[in-house]
Amino acid sequence: MNLVSKWNYPTTVRFGAGRISELPDVLAATGIKRPLFVTDPGLAKLPVVASTLKILDDANVPYGVFSEVKPNPVEANLTAGIVVFKSGNHDGVIAFGGGSALDLGKLIAFQAGQTRPVWDFEDVDDWWTRADSDAIAPIIAVPTTAGTGSEVGRAGVITNEATHTKKVIFHPKLLPAIVIADPALSVGMPSFITAGTGMDALAHCLEAYCAPGYHPMADGIAVEGIRLVFENLPKAYADGSDLIARAHMMSAAAMGAAAFQKGLGAIHSLSHPIGALYDTHHGMTNAVFMPYVLAFNRSAIEARIERLAAYCGIEGGFDGFAAAVLSLRENLKVPHTLGAFIKDLDMDDARKALIADMAVVDPTAGGNPVKLTKEAALLLLNNAITGEL
Ligand code: NAD
Repeated sequence: MNLVSKWNYPTTVRFGAGRISELPDVLAATGIKRPLFVTDPGLAKLPVVASTLKILDDANVPYGVFSEVKPNPVEANLTAGIVVFKSGNHDGVIAFGGGSALDLGKLIAFQAGQTRPVWDFEDVDDWWTRADSDAIAPIIAVPTTAGTGSEVGRAGVITNEATHTKKVIFHPKLLPAIVIADPALSVGMPSFITAGTGMDALAHCLEAYCAPGYHPMADGIAVEGIRLVFENLPKAYADGSDLIARAHMMSAAAMGAAAFQKGLGAIHSLSHPIGALYDTHHGMTNAVFMPYVLAFNRSAIEARIERLAAYCGIEGGFDGFAAAVLSLRENLKVPHTLGAFIKDLDMDDARKALIADMAVVDPTAGGNPVKLTKEAALLLLNNAITGEL
């Protein structure tokens, strides 16, 4: 193995229940005087947002609010957000919410000062160097779900509606300057979102751990993240007010994103086109594909998964781990097939071929431990339709 690699580590995270009260202090530490608070329309109506805005009011912080953020945000959301950012003379962003609001908030701070279209900064080769890095406004991230880990990531995901593709925009300065990870903000998550986001954290840790390449730090983070998910996701799902389980899930989510700098794999390569074409929840889509991809990759990852299972206290080596994934999915009511997940799913051969074509060119495909050919993508897609493992 070639022991040459590049390691990047996340940012300052103020972790703990109640730490949202430190928001004014965090604004001062990042030099933001007129923040734009970016969230989504569902959250905007909830007490978590009202109580957070009250913290800003009490500290006399002049702020604006932008909440036109679709789940799976689109370019129109970004364009509208930039108009509000500029017209309000904002000098930084508080991105508050799940991955959708975090990504869009981060992208507003990034794109408001750029002259090229956002698609020119896709995570391809060194395209990020095209950006005017001095024009990127500082970002504070406050996650309210525990899944994407976008709060500690250097990317934002946005759907290109013209091509029906999800694009990953990358720049090192998309990494938030400071994160407030306050698990108390996540207690109101509905159970479907708790399950889907938690499985997203698991998918990130698992695919990172299985990706080829030399990154022992990412591997170490990933295995502990996986253990935390198996121990805590069922608890957070059963009792949303379990703050200890919520806290461990918030850690696992950040750990997944810290780990997946090593790479992702076919779970994501298939879930991205499905998300772009059917507007499904990202984490839940990953959860549907997980056991099929695990079985497909077996020959390349069996020894690794045996070590992982032993660390997590799961008996039975690879088979035991695969069974634990299935049982976790069942416990969380994750649909076993795409048909059970997407209403009126009717995929003809042309549509399947389109999805397979999109999967093999997805930037995550290269991280799959077994080469993801078009035939392999079709096989995985068909398995997820028939339920055959
Ligand atoms: P989300 O942000 O789309 O939120 C889902 C729903 O949960 C929304 O309706 C929201 O209002 C609600 N919600 C969020 N927090 C809540 C709370 N505390 N209480 C009640 N309701 C709450 O979901 P998500 O899974 O966190 O994010 C998905 C997005 O993140 C997708 O666009 C995906 O592509 C992206 N993503 C980004 C990265 C990255 O590295 N940047 C990684 C994975 C996924």
